[in-house]
Amino acid sequence: MNMEELTPHIEELKRVLGDKANEAMIIEELDTYLNKYHLDIESAKRGIIRKLGGATVGFVTAASVQKKIGELNGTEQNVDIVAKVIYVENKEITVKGVPKKIVSGIIGDDTGSSSFTVWRGDVQLNKGEVYRLKNCYTKKWNDRIQVNLGDKGVVELARDVKIDMPERNYSMSSSEMKIGEIREGVGNVTVTGRILTAETKTVNVKGEQKTVFSGIIADDTGKIQYSAWNDFQLKAGETICAKNAYIRAWKGIPQLNLGERCEVSRVDDTFDESAIGGSNEKTVRDILKNGGGLDITLRGDVVDIRMGSGLIKRCPECNRSIINDQCMSHGTVTPIPDLRMKFVLDDGTGSISAILNRELTEKITGVTLNMATELAKARGAEFVAKEIAERIIVKHVTISGNVMSDDYGPSMIVKDASLENVDVEKEARALYKTVEAAL
Ligand SMILES: [Zn+2]
Repeated sequence: MNMEELTPHIEELKRVLGDKANEAMIIEELDTYLNKYHLDIESAKRGIIRKLGGATVGFVTAASVQKKIGELNGTEQNVDIVAKVIYVENKEITVKGVPKKIVSGIIGDDTGSSSFTVWRGDVQLNKGEVYRLKNCYTKKWNDRIQVNLGDKGVVELARDVKIDMPERNYSMSSSEMKIGEIREGVGNVTVTGRILTAETKTVNVKGEQKTVFSGIIADDTGKIQYSAWNDFQLKAGETICAKNAYIRAWKGIPQLNLGERCEVSRVDDTFDESAIGGSNEKTVRDILKNGGGLDITLRGDVVDIRMGSGLIKRCPECNRSIINDQCMSHGTVTPIPDLRMKFVLDDGTGSISAILNRELTEKITGVTLNMATELAKARGAEFVAKEIAERIIVKHVTISGNVMSDDYGPSMIVKDASLENVDVEKEARALYKTVEAAL
C-alpha cells in the first residue's frame, strides 16, 4: 500500500485517536502492522486503535462520523446515519441454539438505500419514519452495503428531519433507466444508448482465456463503460437497447454488464447529436449519488490541502510513493523525487478529494519540480508544501478527470486543471526571488 492509499487510513486513525497519537506515531505503527506483522489494513487499524487508544477508546466511544447512505463503503466501524425506513420486518433467528429477535429491512435517504439489521429485539421501527441510527457498523455483501446496529447502537426517532427520496424500484426486475441516473446498487436495468467505442480483449480468468467485449455507451444524460462475455456484435455508432443488463461498480464507477440474461436489440437513434454523453459538468452532489464516473468536470474552491502533497519520493522500481527511502515491495531504494498535490475541492454542494500529478501541480501552482527541489534544499520540504498550499487554497479551480471511490469516498484523478484569473508563473517567480535573496 502506498502513501496515497494510506493517507485516508492515517486520517481516520488521527480522528479516532484524537490527542492520543500524532501522525508520525500512526505512520510508524502502520508500517509495523502492515510490513512486519503483514496484517491487512482493517486489522492493522483495529490493532493500532487498541494499542494507542487504550481500553477507553473503543470504536463506539470514539467520535463517530455521520454519513449519507450513498457515502457508505461497507467498512465503517462507527457511523451515524439519518434515514427513512422503507421496509421493515421483525424476525426471530437462532444464534448458537438460542432464539434471538432481530429487526431488518431497507433504509434510504436522498443518496441511496441499503439493507439494515438491528441485532436486538427491543427496538421498534416503523415504515415511513425517519430515524437517527447511531454507532452503526457496515459490511458489504455482494456489492451491497449492509448497515448493522449492535448492542451499543442507539435508535432515535428523528421527527425533525424530512427525507425526500427519489422514487426507486426495489424489485430485482429490470427497470428502464437513463445512463446519467445509474449508480452503484441499482441492480438490473434496461438501457438505451449509442455505442461510442467497442473493443475486444482477451483476459485470463482462472487460467482460462476468455474474450471480453467492452467499450463506452452513451445517451443524452451520460456515458458508462459496458462489458459483455457474449459477442453481441456491438459496433461503434450503432444504438442499442440492452434489456436486463446489470450494474456493478468498480472503484465506485458504475459499469454496465451485458450478462447471460441480457437481451440486446438495435433501435432507432433519436439522440440529439450535441447531447450525446450528457454534460460532463457535474456537481459534487451528483457524484456522491453515483459514486464515480468518467470524464467529469467540476468547478469549485480549493478548501484544503491533504497530507502527501508537495515534494514526494517514489520507488524507482514500482513508482509507488515511499517514506524513509523504504519501498514496501523493494526494500531500501534510491528514491526519485516527484511533485504531487492532493486537495479538497468544495463546490457548494459538497466536497471531494482530487489528486494532481507533477505536470498539473506545476501548471496551476507555477512551482516546478526543480524549483521545489531547490526550495526544499534551502528551506526544507515542509516549506515547499506550505508554499504550494498558499498558492492554491481558496482559489477557484476547474478540474476534470475520472472520479473513483475508495473506502473514504470519491476522489478525482485529475487529467486537466485550470486556475481562474491568476498569473501563476509570475507569482512563482516572485516566490523564487524571495528565496534566492534569503540564501
Ligand atoms: Zn517499489
